[in-house]
Amino acid sequence: MPTSGSPGTAWPISQYVLKVHSRCDLACDHCYVYEHADQSWRGRPMVMDARTVAAAADRIAEHAAAHRLRRVSVVLHGGEPLLLGLDRMRQVLVALRRRIDPVSRLDLRMQSNGIRLSEPYCDLFAEYDVQVGVSLDGDRAANDRHRRFATGASSHPQVLRAIGLLNRLPYRRLFAGVLCTVDLRNDPIAVYEALRAVRPPRLDLLLPHATWANPPYRPAGRATPYADWLLAVHDRWSADGRPMPIRLFDSLYSTAAGGHSGSEWVGLDPADLVVVETDGTWEQVDSLKTAYDGAAATGLSVFTHTVDEVSRLPEIALRQIGLAGLAAQCRACPVVTQCGGGLFAHRYREGTGFDNPSAYCADLKELIVSLSARERGEPVAATEPVDQDGTDLPDGLLDRIAAGRTDADALRFLAESQLAITRAMLVEVADGAPATGRTGWDALVRLDRDAPDAVEETLRHPYVRVWAVDARRQLGTDQTAGDHLSCVAAAAAVRAGVSVELDVPIRSGVLHLPSLGAVTVAEPVTATAVLTVEPGTWRIRHPAGTTRVSFDGDLDASVPRVTGGRWQANRRLDFGGSTILFEDLDPHRDCHDWKAAERPDAPTLARWGEVLTAAWSSIETDLPYQAAAVLTGLRAVVPLVDDPTGTLRSSTARQAFASVGVALADPLAMAVMIAHEFQHSVLGALLDLCDLYTPSPTLRLAVGWRADPRPVEGVLQGTYAHLAITDMWRQRAGQEPPGGPAHKRYGQYQAWTAQAADALLGCGALTPAGDRFVRRLAEALTP
Ligand code: SF4
Repeated sequence: MPTSGSPGTAWPISQYVLKVHSRCDLACDHCYVYEHADQSWRGRPMVMDARTVAAAADRIAEHAAAHRLRRVSVVLHGGEPLLLGLDRMRQVLVALRRRIDPVSRLDLRMQSNGIRLSEPYCDLFAEYDVQVGVSLDGDRAANDRHRRFATGASSHPQVLRAIGLLNRLPYRRLFAGVLCTVDLRNDPIAVYEALRAVRPPRLDLLLPHATWANPPYRPAGRATPYADWLLAVHDRWSADGRPMPIRLFDSLYSTAAGGHSGSEWVGLDPADLVVVETDGTWEQVDSLKTAYDGAAATGLSVFTHTVDEVSRLPEIALRQIGLAGLAAQCRACPVVTQCGGGLFAHRYREGTGFDNPSAYCADLKELIVSLSARERGEPVAATEPVDQDGTDLPDGLLDRIAAGRTDADALRFLAESQLAITRAMLVEVADGAPATGRTGWDALVRLDRDAPDAVEETLRHPYVRVWAVDARRQLGTDQTAGDHLSCVAAAAAVRAGVSVELDVPIRSGVLHLPSLGAVTVAEPVTATAVLTVEPGTWRIRHPAGTTRVSFDGDLDASVPRVTGGRWQANRRLDFGGSTILFEDLDPHRDCHDWKAAERPDAPTLARWGEVLTAAWSSIETDLPYQAAAVLTGLRAVVPLVDDPTGTLRSSTARQAFASVGVALADPLAMAVMIAHEFQHSVLGALLDLCDLYTPSPTLRLAVGWRADPRPVEGVLQGTYAHLAITDMWRQRAGQEPPGGPAHKRYGQYQAWTAQAADALLGCGALTPAGDRFVRRLAEALTP
């Protein structure tokens, strides 16, 4: 059990936060330093000067020697500590090591937003053994919710770049972990996946600062939304085999076993941390700044007061006496030894000060009770669903999609989540990629800052993710697996009209620019070439010579002039008043069930154009509830080779969101195939966000449309695809007299789909969300 002192007996302090720079280059709107009640930063020096650093180091060393502390931790903090600059940073590190190392083992750390992290900084931190923690709130959408520049621009690419640097071999040992502030509006699984993808050695999930006076955001009707959010992460983390420590969960497991929490967030460990501001004043923990102006102040200074004097202050002593320092309600609480009343700052209420339970009391209790039940192996209690659908999705989204009412908003939500997954995969590929891919990654990070729309448009190309998935698998065995990153960066640079020079891979004489087209150089060389992109011109220097492409104005609207090679542009065909990519070039498109066709000749392409135009009209008429989603979401059609017997062919690749593979057919059949495959794409994206079934290696279900029994995901996918086809035939049947061929088709598809839904509902493999999904689907089968 944690031990506690008694009032008047000061505990030695072993953790110090040094505010070495009080300004920040980001303007995060959830920052307690600048955006909460305390505004004391305005009256302080911007930088902690050398005299103050020396005085603080002396006080820490003196205290460590007096109390024979074997280990002392100093965290450089801000604002943003990297704003110090290299020279000043070195002086701070030298002063701290020189004074404290001789008396105690100094654990030096820094908490940063990562924006200015560079190789020289990392070299310096390696020299002085400084562990670096980086703040990141999840995927780009989650991080952009708060962590932006004052201009509103995203900081996400720069943070990923910083983490990528820390994940490089020579610096990996410096990477302390990632600190993420929870926001209920962010999807917990998407946040978890994005954070896991950057391979942090440790993860901190922090509740946003709040008090009773300024309570946490809570969606209406939700009693414990923070517990639900954290439990969703916990369960995915556990299912993944707990790939990295998550401090909050580890602390609660430790206190459940009678150990220390090792954290000020939960448990009864005595307060062991004080802060030194840039002017040398001692302060209590920073989080108090969220309570009221001056809440963290002590009135003492490193120039005039020892650490012992600070630790004897009643407000600090109160946080060192364990149970006795808590409110009566907490002392009587069954989970108090684990919870400890939560973070001290979160207990504040006007009138009663800190003599209250946490403003997160209900969530903490629910979290602790639910984790204990999980540890005991009890069936997971039905925690309050994160939304009405019983999933982590926005309200009603699961029901709309399940019922075949995927609208444009739902589609945009899925597309954004797919983009976030693609970005996370690229980070992983970039981490493991050798030279060519790495120059591509560095360029892509710069472009993401300077021309984010062009990067986004390129990354939305469905076959970028297909490549990334393959590359991730091959990184250990294929030195060239990451090279295509340069092609992605080059395509983004061309789109943006931004100058860039890159090493790019030429394969059999072809340089592919995903989503744009391909340059074929004069000879079929396979080599690394140098691509120079200038607005309106590209030059490729390769072993067979130089290929030059130039064009006037917009690339899409002009015919490029090419010397030393040939340019093949991606082609777009009319679809619903807009255009759709006819993808017959990308080397990664051949991932469908049937072989991708070679580039068709002009008459065949014209025929494709006619068929797609007419197919859209049919979709618009026959699939009225989903036509807008198809139009919003469908990005590409990949032509497949024709079946020699004339059988229809269509296919979706799981990783190629919003792209369908189809062989040429008549317009009505084409409409059915596109609608069918688009359903697969939607369901695939949904399955990336929530589990609808528990995989089983042996379970097979009989379905009407196949002779062989199918695995659960196959049946789920087929059932969902057939829901749209049933809808289409229902609409077509409505246009003809009873008994016509469309009626027969409608009856057949409805029966198949209803039987398959029944089989799914009875198979025992569906999750609660999956059960709900299939029930909604089955309901939608009845007009
Ligand atoms: S769960 Fe609530 S009452 Fe119990 S210790 Fe925590 S804050 Fe106090």
